Amino acid sequence: MNKAREFDQSVVAELRALLGERVSTSAAVREHHGKDESYFPYALPDAVVFPHSTEEVRDVVDICRRHRVPMIPFGVGTSLEGHILAVNGGVTIDLSRMNHVLAIHEEDLDAVVQAGVTRKQLNEHIKHTGLFFPIDPGADATLGGMTATRASGTNAVRYGTMRENVLSLKVVLPDGRIIQTSRRAKKSAAGYDLTRLFVGSEGTLGIITEVSLRLYPMQEAMSAAVCAFPTLRDAVDCVLAVTQHAIGVEFVVKGCPRRVAIDY
Ligand SMILES: Cc1cc2nc3c(=O)[nH]c(=O)nc-3n(C[C@H](O)[C@H](O)[C@H](O)COP(=O)(O)OP(=O)(O)OC[C@H]3O[C@@H](n4cnc5c(N)ncnc54)[C@H](O)[C@@H]3O)c2cc1C
Repeated sequence: MNKAREFDQSVVAELRALLGERVSTSAAVREHHGKDESYFPYALPDAVVFPHSTEEVRDVVDICRRHRVPMIPFGVGTSLEGHILAVNGGVTIDLSRMNHVLAIHEEDLDAVVQAGVTRKQLNEHIKHTGLFFPIDPGADATLGGMTATRASGTNAVRYGTMRENVLSLKVVLPDGRIIQTSRRAKKSAAGYDLTRLFVGSEGTLGIITEVSLRLYPMQEAMSAAVCAFPTLRDAVDCVLAVTQHAIGVEFVVKGCPRRVAIDY
């Protein structure tokens, strides 16, 4: 049964009353949102919306919930495991136009961004401060999408993953409530750790609209080297030894059948 054929067009009418031109049912836009970087075939949503604010996301969620229509949060669609496929149709909520850096707290080493800001956009925005955000999955993904997939990257050995670097989130829950999971303060232990519940929730628990993140000072000096090892075991032992000596390093391991190289 093709669930997409059952889509209630009055949903589109209500979405248009809310967002006007920022609702699309065109084939091209639906196709763009019906495929990620995985090998899975296209699965198109029935409509795509482009909210600008947390309140607009909440109002979209309210419409979808009343009509019992699936909702798919969407960053820039770089995920690798079919996350954003609309297998039962529904409405894709594209957060990419929520792309404002809301606050930079240089002295506290943190930033607050809308979920559609990409990691490169954030680093460009703060480069004059001498700070940077280190999590670097290959794609220039949104920070909302990176939070939802608990992304990591080449800097994970030194700086951790999104799990260690998200301080707080603003989230629209499926019932339309807007919650803030925590405060910016790094020491904050009252109640459940909701932040960590949403990091890695892959769009299933709520729609992240704002992210507070740790920032780090840029190194004053960096050097790079390539070391070749006869086996993967030797390379891993070297990484462990260097890390245990508390030497700040970032590793990229490149493997081929006959040798393993580490750039650092
Ligand atoms: C070339 C390449 C290299 C990569 N390398 C790595 C790597 O080294 N390490 C690693 O960890 N990952 C890696 N990735 C995966 C990468 O982490 C994800 O593609 C990225 O985090 C997804 O971000 P996005 O903005 O594209 O989200 P999308 O792909 O649009 O969405 C991903 C998931 O998050 C949900 N989502 C998106 N935005 C929100 C939101 N605001 N609120 C709630 N849910 C949301 C979606 O529903 C979906 O489930 C790589 C990807 C590529 C293409």
